Amino acid sequence: MTLRLLTAVAAIALASVGTAAPVLAPPQPLSTDLQRYVRIAPGRIALAHVRVIDGTGAPAAEDQTLLIDGARIAAVQPGSAPVPSGYQALDLTGATVMPGIVGMHNHLFYLQRPNIDASGASEDPLIVPQMSFSAPRLYLANGVTTMRTTGSVEPDTDLNLKREIDAGRLIGPHLDVTGPYLEGEGAFFIQAHTITSPEDARREVAYWAGQGVNSFKAYMHITRAELKAAIDEAHHHHLKVTGHLCSVTYPEAVALGIDNLEHGFFVNTQLDPGKQPDKCSDGAGDPTLLAMKPDSAEANALIKLLVDHHVAITSTLPVFEQGVPLHAPLQARQMNAMSPQAKESYLYLRNLTASGAGTKHGQEEAEKYKNDLGLERQFVAAGGLLIAGPDPTGNGGVIPGFGDQRELELLVEAGFSPVEAIRIGTLNGATYLGLADRIGSIAAGKNADLIVVRGNPAADIRDVEKVDIVFKDGVGFDSAKLLQSVKGHYGQY
Ligand SMILES: [Zn+2]
Repeated sequence: MTLRLLTAVAAIALASVGTAAPVLAPPQPLSTDLQRYVRIAPGRIALAHVRVIDGTGAPAAEDQTLLIDGARIAAVQPGSAPVPSGYQALDLTGATVMPGIVGMHNHLFYLQRPNIDASGASEDPLIVPQMSFSAPRLYLANGVTTMRTTGSVEPDTDLNLKREIDAGRLIGPHLDVTGPYLEGEGAFFIQAHTITSPEDARREVAYWAGQGVNSFKAYMHITRAELKAAIDEAHHHHLKVTGHLCSVTYPEAVALGIDNLEHGFFVNTQLDPGKQPDKCSDGAGDPTLLAMKPDSAEANALIKLLVDHHVAITSTLPVFEQGVPLHAPLQARQMNAMSPQAKESYLYLRNLTASGAGTKHGQEEAEKYKNDLGLERQFVAAGGLLIAGPDPTGNGGVIPGFGDQRELELLVEAGFSPVEAIRIGTLNGATYLGLADRIGSIAAGKNADLIVVRGNPAADIRDVEKVDIVFKDGVGFDSAKLLQSVKGHYGQY
């Protein structure tokens, strides 16, 4: 008896080691003190007479009724059909329902430059404080129901946050917690472990896989041998690896077996002059992007390589838009979310970028941005899986959640139709995560992870900004109340 009991205990312990908590945990009731953020309690809900954008890229369907039963979508039926008995009907004439956004480059930290002044100067070290209070609420309030952290600064914090959200004790999206940045010597922020060898890379990946992270991200100064070791170890744990690379070029990373590359075509260094193997070049990809025109021989070869090897590309246009002089300013609703310090820092840096208008540097920034848009379109046309996220870092002008909406708008500016852009921001991310049967589009049986927006994003993508209710696992959160609760706190905590 004692032996059998011990065996049972050992089996439970073994099962919990090295097993990541799934991105989509079984839904738990929300704690009582968080109920104030709920507009629609879970139950049988009919979203009546609503326009449906289903996330597959199909045209919007007018006057539909979407039935939610608990945490799942029960059915989508014509608005003229009677609402089944037992359903609470909400008349949403004029509104649109679309899948929750699957944000694939969505950090949970803020980038802090100590003592920054109007010249842009600041003191070392660069610090990235956790935004474990404001960021999850900002994401969910703006329609992000699933997100990947895409490089963690405090992986334990992010894992704890995921556990608390999954248990209903905190509010936020479903989380794919990415392990710590896999970075060699030269990290630009101080809170990173420095990988010193392939063995070290393997050890780091094995340790954090054991702690329950869902994915990994390699960074700018990793060597090919270290990246290979990290990818092999992650794949051994059935976890995927993405990279914001520099020392390793895109073709090299493809050959090593990477699953995903961040930042569109902005950080490929294969054509950078003087590029040394395993070293980040001074241009960090700028010369390559300036040289690689869409439909050029180099672009065609690279895109074929990526598509043939099923390597996904993450579009992060909002963070690069910030480098283009005279880009769109932040709106008042975004500034309202920021701490006074975060606003000041953003405005200093934005003014510096604006002063680059008409200069060679400013023109090059605009040229790179244009080339990247063309390459992202070409990648999709060739059958590549383009996924999306805002990357809230840079000059502080990319805000969680708001940035995810901006990404959809910029994809439309890049030439995608609104429903194509929405697919990139929803179903494509779910497909990459292996969760397309559960989230990312609207169909019977899928999670009730949905956004209700006032207006019609299929006609004007900017209507994705008009989020009213965000359903996660069938719980309808009040977007305005969530935003109010973090007012002035992004940049602070
Ligand atoms: Zn990032």
